[in-house]
Amino acid sequence: MVNRRSGGGTGNKWNWITLFPPYCFDSNFERWERSYASNNNKVREAKVSVDVDCVVIGAGVIGLAVARELAYADHEVVILEQEHCIGSGISSRNSEVIHAGLYYPPGSLKAVSCVDGKKRLYAYCEERHIAHRRCGKLIVATDQARLADLSAIDANARECGVSDLEWLSCDAARQIEPALECVAALFSPSTGIIDTHGFMLSLLGDAEDKGALIAYGSTVESIIPTLAGIEIRTTGFSEPQLRCRTLINAAGLNAGNIARSIVGFPASHVPKISYAKGNYFALTGKSPFSRLIYPLPEPGGLGIHFTLDLVGCARFGPDVEWLDSLNYEVDEARVDSFYPSIRKYWPGLKDDHLRPAYAGIRPKLSGPGEAAADFCISGPAEHGVPGVINLFGLESPGLTASLAIGGRLAKVIAPSGKTLAPDHQGL
Ligand SMILES: Cc1cc2nc3c(=O)[nH]c(=O)nc-3n(C[C@H](O)[C@H](O)[C@H](O)COP(=O)(O)OP(=O)(O)OC[C@H]3O[C@@H](n4cnc5c(N)ncnc54)[C@H](O)[C@@H]3O)c2cc1C
Repeated sequence: MVNRRSGGGTGNKWNWITLFPPYCFDSNFERWERSYASNNNKVREAKVSVDVDCVVIGAGVIGLAVARELAYADHEVVILEQEHCIGSGISSRNSEVIHAGLYYPPGSLKAVSCVDGKKRLYAYCEERHIAHRRCGKLIVATDQARLADLSAIDANARECGVSDLEWLSCDAARQIEPALECVAALFSPSTGIIDTHGFMLSLLGDAEDKGALIAYGSTVESIIPTLAGIEIRTTGFSEPQLRCRTLINAAGLNAGNIARSIVGFPASHVPKISYAKGNYFALTGKSPFSRLIYPLPEPGGLGIHFTLDLVGCARFGPDVEWLDSLNYEVDEARVDSFYPSIRKYWPGLKDDHLRPAYAGIRPKLSGPGEAAADFCISGPAEHGVPGVINLFGLESPGLTASLAIGGRLAKVIAPSGKTLAPDHQGL
């Protein structure tokens, strides 16, 4: 199950100097073990067969970006993925847009990591020849009453460090996109699209070249922090098979369940995760636009927008459908709300030209009617369990932000003096 493609892993011997992350280079584990033992009235005798420095749960774009950065920082890294391929979760069910970073509260993790991640992502795509296109996007106001909302986006973007937005009158917008209906638009030249799968493959290749291992078909079932490290058991085994010093929970929609499976983990540090499904409908026929077109944001999402893929196929979505349990089926009836929303900015949309495409699910830390929440990266300083880092609520713009988040974690975990990935500039 463990697949080593190539590269110079450092073997499985413990080296306490390099393997202890700085933040737990004290007796935290000892304290944890004692409290675990007293709470559970026993001391564990580990039978694990593999000791590694870092384990990353989840081979989506976030887990892969983190694994790559940690491998570049000379950590031994094992990625555990329940499926038999990379990126089959949220990472393969999104809009594949490189976001400019316009909407998020200034200083929030979403804002900072999106703006930083965008720069890193373009540089990375160019260096590695990953298919992408800096096509730009238009955010459109379709009635005068919403012009103030457009101004607010412009002001917010500037506060977030994005100062390249350009105001377009209706005529100017129509000159570049003749099919568009609007009263005014903001043009974002740094928005683009990317081949997400190509990106993830490249991240995995980088990580493997630096010695990281990926174990497919490995569903993490339980996690036990002990004095000797964090023990991990996957499906089909009665005892933990793996022990690590640092565990990164990048399990996307399942991150809350993983955190709950950590023995003794404080429940108060596992946020409620709400599922907000986003349905997409594809356009039959030729694309009416060559840039992305976004209406003004709506509660829970960015509005039913128009995106293109790299071969020029057009699709609309995602909408927002709150779910109680995971379900990826696109309900055809939802198309009824798509037509009027799209016709506000594209009156030329003909009846029966949309067909169900696919759906993705956002792991949201805010529920229906609540204000949008930030990403949550929660480590020992927050929850008190040594070596455990949980990533919760990594919804949009997680793809754009992935390299920045990887860099941020490597900075926390890397022993000082280690070489970080070439694009690592810190947050
Ligand atoms: C509808 C939609 C549109 C979006 N559009 C954009 C966009 O245009 N631009 C942008 O920047 N971002 C966008 N995003 C956000 C982006 O897609 C996500 O932030 C990102 O893909 C999250 O990646 P991840 O690695 O956290 O999760 P995932 O890709 O879901 O990876 C988690 C992995 O963990 C594995 N796993 C789960 N449980 C276990 C277990 N017990 N053991 C082992 N493995 C396990 C899963 O199989 C999965 O492979 C969008 C998201 C959605 C839902």
